[in-house]
This record gives sequence, structure tokens and C-alpha cells, in this order.
Amino acid sequence: MAARLRLKVVDEAFKRAPIPVQMPTERPSEYFGKYVFNKQKMFKYLPAKVYKQMCDVIDNGAPFDRAIADAVAEGMKKWAMELGVTHYTHWFQPLTEGTAEKHDGFVEHDWKGGMVEEFEGKLLVQQEPDASSFPNGGIRSTFEARGYSAWDPTSPVFVIGDTLMIPTIFISYTGEALDYKVPLKKALYAVDKAATAVVKYFNPEVTKVVSNLGWEQEYFLVDEALYAARPDLVMTGRTLMGHDSAKNQQMDDHYFGSIPARVEMFMKDIEIQALELGIPCKTRHNEVAPNQFELAPIFEETNLAVDHNMLMMSIMKRVARKHGFRCLLHEKPFKGINGSGKHNNWSLSTDTGVILHAPGKTPMDNLRFVTFTVETLKAVYDHNGLLKASIMSATNAHRLGANEAPPAIISSFLGKTVTDLLEHVEKADIDQLTVAGKKAFKLDLPSIPELLIDNTDRNRTSPFAFTGNRFEFRAVGSVANCASAMLTLNAAVAEALEDFKKRVDALIAKGEAKEKAILKIVREDIKYIKPIIFNGNGYGDEWKVEAKKRGLDCETSAPVIFDNYLSDKSIKLFESTKVMSKVELEARNEIKWETYTKKIQIESRIFGDLCLNHIIPVVTQYQSMLIDNVHKVQGIFSGDKAHKISKENLYIIEKISDHESFIIENVDKMVEARKVANKITSEREKAIAYHDTVAPLLEEIRYHVDKLETIVDDEAWPLPKYRELLFIR
Ligand code: ADP
Ligand code: MG
Repeated sequence: MAARLRLKVVDEAFKRAPIPVQMPTERPSEYFGKYVFNKQKMFKYLPAKVYKQMCDVIDNGAPFDRAIADAVAEGMKKWAMELGVTHYTHWFQPLTEGTAEKHDGFVEHDWKGGMVEEFEGKLLVQQEPDASSFPNGGIRSTFEARGYSAWDPTSPVFVIGDTLMIPTIFISYTGEALDYKVPLKKALYAVDKAATAVVKYFNPEVTKVVSNLGWEQEYFLVDEALYAARPDLVMTGRTLMGHDSAKNQQMDDHYFGSIPARVEMFMKDIEIQALELGIPCKTRHNEVAPNQFELAPIFEETNLAVDHNMLMMSIMKRVARKHGFRCLLHEKPFKGINGSGKHNNWSLSTDTGVILHAPGKTPMDNLRFVTFTVETLKAVYDHNGLLKASIMSATNAHRLGANEAPPAIISSFLGKTVTDLLEHVEKADIDQLTVAGKKAFKLDLPSIPELLIDNTDRNRTSPFAFTGNRFEFRAVGSVANCASAMLTLNAAVAEALEDFKKRVDALIAKGEAKEKAILKIVREDIKYIKPIIFNGNGYGDEWKVEAKKRGLDCETSAPVIFDNYLSDKSIKLFESTKVMSKVELEARNEIKWETYTKKIQIESRIFGDLCLNHIIPVVTQYQSMLIDNVHKVQGIFSGDKAHKISKENLYIIEKISDHESFIIENVDKMVEARKVANKITSEREKAIAYHDTVAPLLEEIRYHVDKLETIVDDEAWPLPKYRELLFIR
């Protein structure tokens, strides 16, 4: 039965034709932001005074005055209704993997027996979703279940279908954050404040520093019919069994290859929708693994970029179905080939248009560049364990440390040019570097070639690589909310910069010239950060040994890595930057451990079912057929001859038995391990038990299932194979 389904869906998938996409008649620059209530729309739909106030809120972080809420809501409603919109929703990012929304119609009683479309300012500004059904780590007990969502005017409202989507923050009634956005916004505020103070040494005109994020989203596409025939993919987003395909990525023929027709239509479709929603999509290409692809927009302000990434992931999932695909955002859907990440390209820039992580033309510019680079590295060094925790999850754990992605150790690649530059700054005679005088200040730093911005100076194995005018945090998982990594990084950099300023100011107070004071502290820090810099091969085993010697966090168990959030150092970081309180950190860790446990639990359950209900019955049937054959042979031939003829079958029968009994015994063992773990009350200990006792069995048992896949009659095998999942498009 099962096998016939597999062959049927394979056939179905093979025959599926590309779905043509209606191309807009306008150019992308013309339809960009069509469904976004951006400044252009505000100008058109809001009273002039209100428009000005909104610009002040968006550009300068001025507080949103509730007195204008009604006028803003009215303008939005008018615009939205012209697009046929009938509903609105607060759109927020609870501590799950996705976003949340609850739609309400614009309709209200008109008290004359009819209805009117209404949307008041108070509905725009605040709502009260029941917080008890979202992960809250114990902050909310159900008797006080209310939380509230509040509009974030710095992320524009947009329209999807018939609904006005309002980006909001989500907090508990007692004020704790229940989402990713609140701490992210606080971290962005902290880094703005700290970086602006430091950058004023170099340019007193700067009044604001912005954190930039350009994410690159990797993903897999699998035909929908094949996907439906894989309960593991449906339930967990990854294949829990499946033998390597004879050909996978060893020919290096997929990366940057020509894009398959069906996929190209999908890409066009998501790009058009993204551009209409104001997501500045730019790049698309095939990735390394078969059926793996990447999409990247141009970088944006971090809060907006995070929203856009969340939105993009949901567009991708929705549009994939229209094209007969399922979009897999899991970090490791297939064993043995590359997994998916989400590189987070990050930098700071000023309201005067300078990227602080880009080298400049003058010596003073370069001192500024060195300062921000070194202080970023100091932040990464001081909090390397925490940064690892910020990107860790049950799913990303499969990718990190595999031979394709950064290892589970955070280090930074600088490349030769910057490494040499830092060495020069560290070693040169300080009086030769500076000639302090009233006007004549000479900073003899070697100039940095333009070449640096080029892609030549690359190291694919580094989790945090300098790439010319930014750092690329490559360890972020493909399904993750970037906010987790970004709030941690920005908070850590804020702390480093604040500390830097204190030390420089102390020297200046003692009479040191500003430039010399900066140099002295930078030199101190260049010495200090050495252990975090690693320009070698991050895949090698030698690096693990070396990293341990350097005192970097080398822990590989996800639930233990989460402990980093609760170290004194991390609590101090988050509290001093006002990003999160200890209570919030503790609550979040409960959620992390609980989520980890649930993921492994679900995997283990579905895996057990597949083994016992899908694999073993088919295998037993096939084995019976062989046994039958042996009996029949013995009916025709006798003695030695019969044995000789049946030898191979007997060997296979035995092999099948060995694999079968391993599987059955260990599925039992796995169920027992779950039972033991489930009794543990501490979320942390439970997650560790799942990591140590349940997760390894998934791998051990899988080995035997995958062996059976190569033995049993192909016609009988119930689950679509890797060669089918990965090569039909
Ligand atoms: P790749 O790393 O694959 O070469 P790209 O060069 O296309 O990728 O850039 C990846 C992302 O980095 C894009 O979103 C791009 O806009 C972004 N990016 C470029 N410069 C910066 C910067 N200074 N700060 C943040 N992101 C940046
Ligand atoms: Mg990149």
C-alpha cells in the first residue's frame, strides 16, 4: 500500500509544470511599497501636522502622542479601504518560531440597525491578546492572563489580502516583554546611545547611530506531494530517516547553477510580493545543496529588517504552496548535505551617512574604523558564550559543527588586511602614530586598500566574519527570528562602547590628548581581544583544541549552552543596558528549555511511529518473501545445492533481522528514556535528559533504518527517498 503511494506521488511530482506568474506592468521601483503605509502614503492621507509628528516619531524616536492616534487611524483606514481591506490585526512576534495575529473587522454598529466601518486610534495603539496561550516562561499565570500589544510606529503598517497588519510589541500587564521586539528595540536604543557618544570623538555633528541588518535567507523547496508522504517532514520540518542519495552535492553543480523553471516562477512570485510590501529584495540564487536556494534583500535598519524577515518567511511558506512546493526553513532538513543558515550582515552607521565598520579615507576615519571594529570584537569576545546561546536551538544544533557551517564556537575572522592593521596599531611607537599638537594631529595609520570591500578576503568557516564594511554573523539559524542574535550583539556592543568611553574620558581628564587617549585604550583592547580572532579553518579538529586553550566557550549541548543567559556577566549586560531584567531572562530560559524538550519529544514520537508502523511492516513483508523463496528452493533442490542457491537470501534475511531487532529494541529504549525524562520537573534538567538520552537514539536507530532502505525492494519502500525529495523540481 504505502509503496504504491510513494510511487504515485513521485510520478505526480515529476509531472508538475511551472505555474506562470503574472508580471506587473510597472517597474519594481514603481510598485515597491505599494501595500505599505509609508511616508508617502502618510503625506497623502494624514493632516500635515500629524504627518510631521509621525516623521518625528519615525526618524528621531520622539514619543508617539496618543492625541494624534485617531487622525493616524483614520488616514490608515481610508488608505486601506481603497485597497479593499476589511480587517485589521496587531501583528507581533511571541516567543515561538513565527508571528501571531488575530483579525478583527472594521465593522461597528451604527445604532440605526446597520453597520459602519470604524477604526479608532485606540484600536491601532493597543490591544489585549490573551497572553496565557503564548510562551511566557511562567511570567503569566492564567488568572492574570492578559498581555497587551502596542503599536511600534517605527515599523510601518502594511496590507496583506484583506487585512491591515499593524506591527506591535507584546508585553505582560506587569511590563515584562513577551516577545522579541521589545528587548530588540531596547538594545537598539542602547547601542545608539553608546555609539553616538563614542562617535562624537570623531565627528561632533553625529546625533544618531543606526544598527543595520542585511539577512541572507537560505531555504529548501520540496515538491508538495512528496512532502505529504513524509510524516517526519510534516511534523518536524526535517527528515528523520533517509539514506544518502548516490548523487548529492559532490559535483558542486548546484551552487549558482541555472535556476530550475518551477523554482524561478516561485522566486519571481515571492519577490514581487515582497517588493510590494516594501522588502527590498535583491539577490536570489541556487545554494550548495540540491533543492537549496537563497534570497537576500538590501540591508535595512535592524528593527525593520527583522520584521521584514519574519514577513518574508511567511510569504515564502504561503507562496510555495501555490507552486506545488513546500518551503523548508529548518536548519537541517536532510542529513549528509548542507543545512540552511541566515547570515546576519551587521554594521553601525551614523545619521551623517558614515558606516562605522567601513574603513575611511583619512587617518582619523581609520582610527574611528579601528575603534568600532575592536570594540565590536571585544563585545563578541566578552560574550562569546552568550552569542552562541542567542543562535542556539534544537534545530540549529544540527547545523553548527557539521562540516559546512560554523563550528559551535564563536570566533571572528578578520582577514589579513585588518589583522595587519591592528598589529600595526598595537606595536607601533605611540608617538610615531600620533603627533599631538593644537592643530596638527597626524595619525600614521597605513591606508586600507579598496580591495578590502571585495569578496576575495573570505572565510566561509567563521561564525563572525569581517567582510569589508560589516560583520557577518553566519551562525544564525535559517528559521530563527534574527532579533535573538541582533539584540544580544547590539547590547554587547553597547556595553563595550560605553566602557570604552569611560576609559578614554578618564585619560582625557588626566590631561591626555583625545586622539592619544583613544589610541591607548584601543591598543589595550587589541591585546585583550586576541583570543577571539581566528583566521584559520574553523572546521578542523585542531581549532577545537586551540579554542579551549583560549578559554572560548566550547560547549556543544544546546540546553547547557542556554545557561549562558543566566551567568552573572550576561545578567549584568542585559540589566545595565536595560534590555532585559533577570526575571525576563529566567522566563525566557524556561521557554528555551521547554521548546528544546518539546522538539526532541515530537521528533522521537514521530520517529518511533515511522519505525514501527511504516518501516518494520514493510521490511518484515520483504523478509517473508525471501524466506518463502528459500523454502521453495528447498522444495525443488536438496542438500548442498539448495543451500548454495539460497545462500545470498539467507544472508539478507539475517541482516534484515539484525537491523530489525536493533530498531525494535531501541525504539522501546527511546520510549523508556522519554518516560524517565518526562518525570523531571526542572525544565533545564528535562531538556538535558532529552539531549543526552533521547536525541542520540534517534541517530543510532536511524543508521539501521537507512541501511534497510538500501536492502529492501525499492517498490516496497514507503517513504520518498532522498534522490526523489532532492532532485524533483
Ligand atoms: P554575500 O555575503 O553572499 O556576498 P551580499 O554581498 O549580497 O552577500 O550581501 C549580503 C547582505 O549584506 C545584503 O543584505 C547586503 O545589503 C548586506 N550589506 C552590505 N553592506 C552592509 C553593511 N554595511 N551593513 C549591513 N549589511 C550590509
Ligand atoms: Mg554573505
